[in-house]
Amino acid sequence: MVQILPVPGPKARAYVERDTLVISPSYGRPYPFVMDHGRGSEVWDVDGYRFIDFTTGIAVCATGHSHPEVVHAVQEQATRFIHMSGTDFYYPLQVELAEKLNEIAPISEACQVFLTNSGTESIEAALKLARYATRRPHVLAFVGGFHGRTYGSMSLSGSKAVHRAGCEPLVPAITHVPYAYCYRCPINLTYPTCAIECVRTIERTVFARLTDPSQVAAIFVEPIQGEGGYVIPPREFFPILREICDKHGILLVVDEVQSGFGRTGKMFAVEHSGVEPDIVAVAKGIASGMPLGAMIARKSLMTWPPGAHANTFGGNPLACAAALTTIRLIQNGYMQNAALMGDYILAQLRKMAEHHRSVGDVRGKGLMIGLEIVEKRATKAPAHDLRDAVVYEAFRRGLLVLGAGPNTLRLMPALNVPKPIVDEMLEILEAALAAAEGQHGLA
Ligand code: PLP
Repeated sequence: MVQILPVPGPKARAYVERDTLVISPSYGRPYPFVMDHGRGSEVWDVDGYRFIDFTTGIAVCATGHSHPEVVHAVQEQATRFIHMSGTDFYYPLQVELAEKLNEIAPISEACQVFLTNSGTESIEAALKLARYATRRPHVLAFVGGFHGRTYGSMSLSGSKAVHRAGCEPLVPAITHVPYAYCYRCPINLTYPTCAIECVRTIERTVFARLTDPSQVAAIFVEPIQGEGGYVIPPREFFPILREICDKHGILLVVDEVQSGFGRTGKMFAVEHSGVEPDIVAVAKGIASGMPLGAMIARKSLMTWPPGAHANTFGGNPLACAAALTTIRLIQNGYMQNAALMGDYILAQLRKMAEHHRSVGDVRGKGLMIGLEIVEKRATKAPAHDLRDAVVYEAFRRGLLVLGAGPNTLRLMPALNVPKPIVDEMLEILEAALAAAEGQHGLA
């Protein structure tokens, strides 16, 4: 029997009130969860209520909260030194991490690595390098894509108008093209008879009518759109993109910030397509919650001279220590668990969808899973408020989940999430769906 918690409790309520006074109102908190501590896939709020966490701080805590081996690596490094700018000096952990990233990168050629503090910074580095290496100004990105919140990455993003409203002008010479979102085909065709016509618009429309391909430095793309709504393109999508890039000397930049590091059951999501990109941007899951990111590029592209790009905190030693331990854990079983649990969750959700009319689509790879919530399956009308209600009802029952895109609910637990926690999640989610559907007259 799923219990309803009296949340937020008094302490959580008080923190939310204080937060409202002093923290930027630009954050979009969907419900008042105030974290006290966590362990694995369980977290406790400041009033002592227990929740299971299927957000992992947005696909960050890949090894669960405060994994003892990650904590040990960080503590051990903290006693040696906490910072020594890697842009001016050398330290072994940066070298070891860059070697490791080279070993696991989805690029067979030798790569070099620029270490960052976040996803957006990895994308900014990729944008700068792509323009520098090709000496071409133009860049393509996708409608529904999300790459971050600083000017370059915000300009590449196309997931929500609120990100840019009032902030223009943006970085110029960026064109957005349709993503292969088959559940809601952007050009009203049906897969597979469509022949992935949406991607062909790059050549047929953009190159033919707007921008000569000789002026295009790169195509920026997520292997699975994250913030855009957990959208998975069909298997032909990446080979076609690679073909277009090869034909015109354009770089393929893959944003693995959300999908990377074992989340989809492979180290990088692009590996499911068999296509090798030229540049990969990573962050989030790389270091189990320590702030770290990286831009990994073919060595042949890293032609920029000393001083061309650097940062103060990128590749911080504590974060590098956490990353090396995280990657080892992912390689030694957690990625396999992600694939197994992912298949299990998808199968259970598909069964659950048979009894819930609001679930329009269930899709996912590994532990990157989305449920698209609709008013009616026949019309596929996006049910934004109903999705938000499911998220809130899950919170009241002790399950943390988040939305993505206008009407998708996403599940992104720790890669080592155990089956009993998965089963608990499924029970709570079903109760939350039933409650929210009841509120919206769909029961
Ligand atoms: N790229 C993708 C695919 C993301 O999902 C995100 C964040 O959600 C970013 C880039 C930006 O990362 P950060 O928030 O670390 O700047």
